[in-house]
Amino acid sequence: MGDTIMKDYGEDVFSEKAIREFLPKRVAAKLLATMREGKPLDPSIADAVAAGMKDWAVQKGATHFTHWFQPLTGGTAEKHDAFLEPTGPAQAVQRFSGKNLIGGEADASSFPSGGLRSTFEARGYTAWDPTSPAFVKRHENGATLCIPTAFCSFTGDTLDMKTPLLRSIQAVSKAIERLMRKFGQPKAHVEITLGAEQEYFLIDRRFYMKRPDLLQTGRTVFGAAPAKHQQLEDHYFGAIKPRILKFMTEVEQRLWQLGIPAKTRHNEVAPAQFELAPMFEDLNLAVDHNMLVMEVLRQTAERNGLVCLLHEKPFEGVNGSGKHCNWSIAYGGRNLLTPGDNPRENAIFLTVLLAIIRAIEMHADILRMTTAGAGNDHRLGANEAPPAIISVFLGDELNAVLNAIETGAKGTKGAAKTALRVGVDTLPALPKDTTDRNRTSPFAFTGNKFEFRAPGSSQNCAQSQMVLNTIVAESIDAICDRLDGMKGDFNANLQKLLQYEVKAHKRVIFSGDGYSAAWPKEAAKRGLPNLRDTMAALAPLKDQRNIALFEKYGVLSRTEMLSRWEIGMADYHRRIRIEASIALEIARSMVRPVVADEFSRLATALGQAKSDGLKFGIRGLTALSSKLGAGLDDLHVKCDRLEKALAHRRHEAQIVAMNDLRRTVDRLECLVDDSRWPLPKYREILFVY
Ligand code: ADP
Ligand code: MG
Repeated sequence: MGDTIMKDYGEDVFSEKAIREFLPKRVAAKLLATMREGKPLDPSIADAVAAGMKDWAVQKGATHFTHWFQPLTGGTAEKHDAFLEPTGPAQAVQRFSGKNLIGGEADASSFPSGGLRSTFEARGYTAWDPTSPAFVKRHENGATLCIPTAFCSFTGDTLDMKTPLLRSIQAVSKAIERLMRKFGQPKAHVEITLGAEQEYFLIDRRFYMKRPDLLQTGRTVFGAAPAKHQQLEDHYFGAIKPRILKFMTEVEQRLWQLGIPAKTRHNEVAPAQFELAPMFEDLNLAVDHNMLVMEVLRQTAERNGLVCLLHEKPFEGVNGSGKHCNWSIAYGGRNLLTPGDNPRENAIFLTVLLAIIRAIEMHADILRMTTAGAGNDHRLGANEAPPAIISVFLGDELNAVLNAIETGAKGTKGAAKTALRVGVDTLPALPKDTTDRNRTSPFAFTGNKFEFRAPGSSQNCAQSQMVLNTIVAESIDAICDRLDGMKGDFNANLQKLLQYEVKAHKRVIFSGDGYSAAWPKEAAKRGLPNLRDTMAALAPLKDQRNIALFEKYGVLSRTEMLSRWEIGMADYHRRIRIEASIALEIARSMVRPVVADEFSRLATALGQAKSDGLKFGIRGLTALSSKLGAGLDDLHVKCDRLEKALAHRRHEAQIVAMNDLRRTVDRLECLVDDSRWPLPKYREILFVY
């Protein structure tokens, strides 16, 4: 009976245990306090911390250190420096100084900055963020000490995902503290939590190597739908194949060593699609951990002769991949999104809930912005993922509660419709695990947290979480401001205020089918924004109202907002261009020769058959060669059109021409001799391991 300790768990993290073991007592205590409070490291202990950290890392096989950061490209970046310090001819020691630990200088010129940084100010600075512990990354010949850092330019403008995330955590924490004071709660630590469910595809490396489109863009630009894909719904939660299970267990072992609480693994809806879900953690740490999850997935796949595809839409016609971001707020260890069992707790729960609803209703556009990207454009609104319209799902029970608040004193008869007195009554019991969850909603309340389902599988969660924190901070402050201006009984005032908030913002609440054709029409009637593609979704970054909000909370400056717009647009255009170029290249240099060759064989055979006066086969050969010939002509036209669109740098035209070309190529795939088709087909890639 009892628990079994997982000995290897967190062994590659400079954890509390390692800190106590490798640092002098006084230094360890100071560092641990710093980490808990999220403060910058005291320079007077930096040298001692660095020395201990180095000793620990060297013991793990580390030879180098790196400041590990998250540039605006969406991935992670590292530049390794050896601990090496020559001490004489043919003599050296391993050394790591406090200066090297606290901050580093990185050449910022190769990272996107959206015009933030002129070339003569190419320097960028990285600074250790002690709220995320250092760790070692192992490789075949040793290991690297990684120090999670923030990255900014010479002028102090942020060039990364982490800095604004940390600022937003501060903003929402401050707002929550203010609200809690109103409720007479004792001062306590605010923790924003994130559990990021990661979807991904796994395919055999041999197929991947034969698909230039996958190699270059992470998605297939051609490929006819196989006879069987996901229509039998036999993959989701199905038994996991042995080769995949071997992969998954290796991933988990690695993640556990890194102190990443990978908890759940299962098959997803599409064939060859899977999911990994960790236990939720402190938001900042969870973001770093998700970046590591993606890296470990990729590397482990490679070691197993597989490739992990994190693109949002690797295969047309089967589901794409998302990253569900489960978000909540804890105060003094209590989850504020758990409906409590006394009137006071419920008043807090309802206030926070309405603040969030208000935030989403008022700032849906900027939240939608965080999910923009060429990959996610294939997913959102494609009847497999939530639509590009941001709405909130609460479930029947909570809807009834809000209804009761809204009806207020004018409550009509019937139990469900009597007025609920906030701060006096308890909430009706809400089932903790609502089984009939609405999977079509982008922002759903799931019992004790909100689940944002629109982010794409390859995206850094920091982006959406940073916006969510900021808009919720603004909403909580607005509610506090109103309460400040009201005299008299607190509960009565709160009741009035929440009633007002329900009325003002309920248009964002939607319980129906988000995939239905009726919803966009209904949403338009309600005046909810529907930002269909990346270009539209990025525009809110330039909106004065949003800029003012992010400046007010010190999360992003105007310049930083505008630079993100520029980076997003440039990234989008480049990706479309690369996809279009590779599509053209494959169509011309791989597909066309095969089609032309087959056509010429058929035409020759037809001519021969006719001159030989054969009785049979002429009809078949005629039909087939006509079809192929027409396809060949069509291919020629479509390629030229795409080439023109590329030359004119018109990306909308590129997308249209690429889709047109795809239809032609996919038709030819079903006509040409299977043994000659130059690309591995979906039915192989998705089903053969
Ligand atoms: P689903 O049914 O969506 O697969 P679960 O309810 O099991 O999921 O949880 C999904 C994710 O939500 C997990 O990563 C879990 O740790 C996370 N989660 C649970 N509680 C919280 C919370 N309070 N804050 C943030 N994430 C949470
Ligand atoms: Mg989920």
